[in-house]
Amino acid sequence: MTDTPLKLFNSLTRELEEFTPVHPGEARVYSCGPTVYNYPHIGNMRAYVFADVLGRTLSWKGYKLTHIINITDVGHLTDDGDAGEDKMEKMAAAKAQSIWDIAKHYTEAFWADVKALNIREPAKWSVATDYIDEMIDFAKGIADQHCYELDSGLYFDVSTVADYGRLARAVTEEGEGRIETVAGKRNAADFAIWRKTPAGETRQMEWDSPWGKGAPGWHLECSVMGEKLLGFPFDIHTGGIDHREIHHPNEIAQNQAFCGCGGLSEATNSGAKIWMHNNFLVERSGKMSKSSGEFLRLQLLVDKGYHPLAYRMMCLQAHYRSELEFSWEGLGAALTRLKRLVMAMEKLKAAALLSSTQQEDVHSVVVEQFDDAISDDLNTPRALAMAEATAVADKFPATNYDSLLRMDKVLGLRLEYLSRIDLRIRPKDAAITEDEIEAELLRRKQARAAKDFATSDAIRDSLAAAGVEVMDGDPLGWEWKL
Ligand code: AMP
Ligand code: ZN
Repeated sequence: MTDTPLKLFNSLTRELEEFTPVHPGEARVYSCGPTVYNYPHIGNMRAYVFADVLGRTLSWKGYKLTHIINITDVGHLTDDGDAGEDKMEKMAAAKAQSIWDIAKHYTEAFWADVKALNIREPAKWSVATDYIDEMIDFAKGIADQHCYELDSGLYFDVSTVADYGRLARAVTEEGEGRIETVAGKRNAADFAIWRKTPAGETRQMEWDSPWGKGAPGWHLECSVMGEKLLGFPFDIHTGGIDHREIHHPNEIAQNQAFCGCGGLSEATNSGAKIWMHNNFLVERSGKMSKSSGEFLRLQLLVDKGYHPLAYRMMCLQAHYRSELEFSWEGLGAALTRLKRLVMAMEKLKAAALLSSTQQEDVHSVVVEQFDDAISDDLNTPRALAMAEATAVADKFPATNYDSLLRMDKVLGLRLEYLSRIDLRIRPKDAAITEDEIEAELLRRKQARAAKDFATSDAIRDSLAAAGVEVMDGDPLGWEWKL
């Protein structure tokens, strides 16, 4: 199963690289987590489906996985540069609530989506505010050589490390439209690692530090939690592609400073060996946003009647480095695809009960092909096609069923537990319950058996009026749809 070497695309080198662990037999992964000032949108969740597939693949390849995902409850400003307010402070003020309550509410909402998408729990959810002392220590350690103080805070001087911005492939000065927003910065790309509370203001979240009362910069927290929990260098750091531009280059600069490391021709000097980034989920109308248009939360998909794993299927259909466009038709198609797979699986299971002989050679061939696909920089579209081919193969059902269960350890579609009934479209605001629908359909069946077509048609019409479409003879066996 682990014959094919695992190849992953490293954003730092812009090359496919063979995965060789820092610690033999182990894989240590850090994923930038959500900022819990609002509900995550499904674009954010794509980042965690991707990190989950990566983690599952590392487990499949036999590595002992330690995965950390952080929860950002302080420090992330409304602008990824140093302009704007702390997102958490802003939301708390708007809602007249404590930041801690806001953080708790949205962290729990995020975890609910994680569970619904069958994303495995990491070894630890590390909460940024639990690491303030460690952040201050880290900053103290690099301040003399790499930082300078302004009225607004302690700033990192990016010219003090080699190859700053290599990850972004950006020019440091005047680069990428970055605007100098803080007077006194030495370089446009310099960033705050500690933000002082302005005189005369109080923040809900602030701590004492050698640079005055204030709060840590967002990039600092990930450097610190990565180092504390996984040790430098660790194997893989993940995040959405937006982090390739500012957040991760800044994290890397801090890591270089902390380790006293040289330039980035040696990838491990960045703090991690491989940096991986998922591309965006986009809407036809443009960038996905929590504020404009329809706020695409997973719960909205569920309210409209779609099983959350249909969204996971949608993510798996695309390679993580490709942009993925969200549409309701696309989600419907992913749901149908999942349903076909589940139905094939049900048939396979029934056949396996009748013919239980295992064919070890068949098993190895299909599992190997699946392994090839997933080892090729997590090629889930190909892996999925392999799983589907296995599901409809008409020989050796017991073997194929077994192979499919193993593949699903990587795909994470819960194929063993889902039934086609679970995948029925059922909007939340439907005026009729499923039990009522089933009872009516039974009455209709009896009427038809008795050749009472008038009653049968009347039942069909009344169901239609309640929004239920009866789907006689539907090849996918939906039977009805709301
Ligand atoms: P945030 O809560 O804003 O820190 O974002 C959480 C994660 O979602 C980060 O890894 C982002 O890079 C990622 N992300 C944000 N928007 C999208 C999107 N539209 N598609 C995919 N990933 C995204
Ligand atoms: Zn981060």
